[in-house]
Amino acid sequence: MISIMNYDWKQIKKSLLTWYQCNQRDLAWRRTKNPYEIWISEIMLQQTRVEAVKDYYKRFLDELPDLESLSQVDDERLLKLWEGLGYYNRARNLKKAACTIMTEYNGLFPSAYDDVLSLSGIGEYTAGAICSICYDAKTPAVDGNVLRVMTRLSNWNAVIDDLSTKREARQMLLCLYETGDCGKLTQALMELGAMVCVPNGAPHCEACPWQELCVAKKEQLIDQIPVKTKAKKRRIENRTIFIIRQGDTVAIQKRPNKGLLAGLYELPGAEGSLSEQEALEWVKEQGYGPLYIKKLPDSKHIFSHIEWHMTGYLIKIEDTEIKKAPEKHIFVDAVTATEKYAIPSAFLAYASYFKKIDE
Ligand code: SF4
Repeated sequence: MISIMNYDWKQIKKSLLTWYQCNQRDLAWRRTKNPYEIWISEIMLQQTRVEAVKDYYKRFLDELPDLESLSQVDDERLLKLWEGLGYYNRARNLKKAACTIMTEYNGLFPSAYDDVLSLSGIGEYTAGAICSICYDAKTPAVDGNVLRVMTRLSNWNAVIDDLSTKREARQMLLCLYETGDCGKLTQALMELGAMVCVPNGAPHCEACPWQELCVAKKEQLIDQIPVKTKAKKRRIENRTIFIIRQGDTVAIQKRPNKGLLAGLYELPGAEGSLSEQEALEWVKEQGYGPLYIKKLPDSKHIFSHIEWHMTGYLIKIEDTEIKKAPEKHIFVDAVTATEKYAIPSAFLAYASYFKKIDE
C-alpha cells in the first residue's frame, strides 16, 4: 500500500470539504438526492462535458421525469432524446435498467450497492456515486478524475488504467469516507478533478486545497503523474455519404441493431472515398438515375476507437425514381428529418444540407 496511508486524513477531508463548500458549481444534479436524477446525470456525464450535459439533462427529465416514464418510452424517442450525446448504448441501458427496477424492485430505485451495481449500464464508479450521493453510503466513486487527484496527492506511480489501481484507490478513499459526508466527498473529489487538478494542461495548484500536502507538486513530478498506458491508435475508415434528394424529401436508412450507432438513422453511404465518377456508378447501382450530382466538403468524425473520414455528394433524383429505391431507403421530409429521426452527430455536417432545398 502506498505511503499516503500515513496521511492526516482528517485534515485532508476537512480542507477538501471546506474548499468544495466555497467553490462548487451550481449544477442541477447537485440540488437533488433523488437516485433517478443522480443516475441520469452520472450516465450522461460519462465521456461528456458538464456544459454539454446541462441542456440534455433538463430536456430528458422534463420528458421522462421518473422510472416509470423511462421504462415505457418508445425506443426511437429515447434515442432522439439522447441524440448528440453519443455512446447510445448508455440510453438503451438506462431503459433496460428502468424496466428491471419496475419489475424487480417494485419501481423503487435500489439502495444497496450490489443491487445498484447489478443494473444494466452501471459499473463500480456509477454505483459508488449513486449510493454515496443519494444514501450517504461509504462507497467511493473512482474515475479518471479522482485517480488523477489521488495519484498526484501521493505521488503514486501506479498505472491508472489498471483495475488493481482503481481498487487500491477505492480502498484508500475509505479512510476519507469512514467518518461520513460521503455524498459531499464524492462530489468534492469530482469537482476538484474537473476544475483544479484538470485533465488537460497544467493543474491550478494555487487554488487547490491540498497544495501544501501534494507530493507530486512538492517533488515537481506533476507532469509524470498519473501514469497511463499508451492509448491505442484509432482505426481510420474512409466513407462516402450521399444526400439523395427528391423534391422536399431526402433518403435515410436505419443502421443494423448491433454494432456502432446501432438502430439509429443514417444517410446512405458506401465504403471508401469515391470519386465523382464512382459515386455516380454507386447511385446507379442503387437503381436511381441521378439528375444532378455535386461534391460536398469532406468531413471527419472521431469515435473512441475509429475515425470516419467522409466524402459527401448531393444527389438529386426525379420523383419517378423513388419507385426504384432500395427497400432500406426511406424518403422523409428534408426539413424535419433531423427533428423526427435520431441521426447521430457523425452525419450532422451533411444533414445540414437537408434544408438547403435550392442547393
Ligand atoms: Fe493536483 Fe496541484 Fe492539487 Fe496536487 S496540488 S492535487 S497537482 S491541483
